[in-house]
Amino acid sequence: MNIFDIIPGIGTILEKTVTKKGDLEKIKVEDQVSDVACDKCGAMMVYKMGRYGKFLACPNFPECRNTKPILVEIDAPCPKCGAKLLERTSRKGRKFYGCEKYPDCDFVSWDMPVKDKCPQCGSYMVKKYGKGREAYTMCSNAECRYKEKQEGKA
Ligand SMILES: [Zn+2]
Ligand SMILES: [Zn+2]
Ligand SMILES: [Zn+2]
Repeated sequence: MNIFDIIPGIGTILEKTVTKKGDLEKIKVEDQVSDVACDKCGAMMVYKMGRYGKFLACPNFPECRNTKPILVEIDAPCPKCGAKLLERTSRKGRKFYGCEKYPDCDFVSWDMPVKDKCPQCGSYMVKKYGKGREAYTMCSNAECRYKEKQEGKA
């Protein structure tokens, strides 16, 4: 018996399995359950995909129509009050960073603040991306504009 008699057959079987699996996954998109409880009915909220990205929705929809934005904490404290900073999405779908104490603290930034302070003036620094997507950090103080290249991957 020749080995090549077997291999083409295997190829066909594999192809069929892949197609089948793809179809299955399309139908069975299960909502990913979060660890956030719905504050209206207590059910564990699930992640949904919306126009502006992911958000949390109550699994008891349409009986309960509660939704919540996903709060992403970033690894830098609020430069104004030291509280946590959260990644948010503006109504136009643009990302920005705001203080968790809002509206008590009105700190917002379009660029992601980083932990390190500017070595020249002590202001907070933000993460920026150059034309080639290379990352660097820049001082938030318009009169300073101190720049630092990020090590490693862009
Ligand atoms: Zn609910
Ligand atoms: Zn703050
Ligand atoms: Zn500076």
